[in-house]
Amino acid sequence: MSLISFIERFPDEDSCKQEFKRIRDKQGVVCNKCGHTEHYWLKNKDQYECKSCRSRMTLRSGTVMYKSQLPYRYWFIAMHLLTSTKKSFSALELQRQLGHKYYEPIWAMLHKLRAVMGKRDSKYQLDQIVELDEGFFKAPVLDSSDDDTDEKPKRGRGSQSQAKVLVMVSSKVSMDKNKNLDKFQKPTQLKFVKMLVIEDLKGETIMENVKTHISKNTVVKTDDFRSYSRINEAVWRHLSMKVPTDKLEKAFTWVHTIISNAKRNLLGINHMTSRKHIQNYLNEFCYKVNRRYFGDKLFDRLLVAAATETWKY
Ligand SMILES: [Zn+2]
Repeated sequence: MSLISFIERFPDEDSCKQEFKRIRDKQGVVCNKCGHTEHYWLKNKDQYECKSCRSRMTLRSGTVMYKSQLPYRYWFIAMHLLTSTKKSFSALELQRQLGHKYYEPIWAMLHKLRAVMGKRDSKYQLDQIVELDEGFFKAPVLDSSDDDTDEKPKRGRGSQSQAKVLVMVSSKVSMDKNKNLDKFQKPTQLKFVKMLVIEDLKGETIMENVKTHISKNTVVKTDDFRSYSRINEAVWRHLSMKVPTDKLEKAFTWVHTIISNAKRNLLGINHMTSRKHIQNYLNEFCYKVNRRYFGDKLFDRLLVAAATETWKY
């Protein structure tokens, strides 16, 4: 959506609030005390009152905006920017643009929206052909509360200052047959991407994620790393490929492209991303890749997700 049409649709706080309420009503408001679905609307309080048990909920309750003091309009602007920019932007930049006094609530708002994106994408399973590999992203552990395990660094598989990210990319066979391809390259089209920060690269961890995020009816392609050796138990076919180093990028075209694009994207937003928050940035990156053909509809999709994803903070 262009800036002009955004401003036309949402010229003020009230237009944003009305749209947010319209979406909540459409999705159906459920009483968090008794589960009843009919409510009175208390206009002056911005609250729903349950017709059965009379308990009240705010318009923001149960959504990503729960307990936020920020105007609806800030949230809408943030969603507009998140869905209309290719490269994303920093909280500092948004704070400056909004002229808001404090950095922290703006920062928190963006992270909650990125978390919503992750919740949405976690509902989908990958299928058809999936390339799976791990990527290492510079993301140091910055405070003691998110201490990393003290396992020994594994040679060739990333060091402890880096986040381990499981990257899974599904593609489908393309009908475009007119290209000259060498034996490692396949004519495929990108479908859906998942990037998940994982604690370690143990076989069990990998298997858990494969079972959760990849449908059984799938062909999974990996290199011959030993933690991938049991993937065949969870999917239709596992192609464990011994590929010469100089052919890796061609053999795993999608996964390598996605990893390098994500790294460039992250560098564009922040000089450094902490371990604790890198998943949220990856959520945003994947959400946009996965909806790259949505165009103008992307904003409305995110808005619906923001209004309906159950939120417990
Ligand atoms: Zn009730």
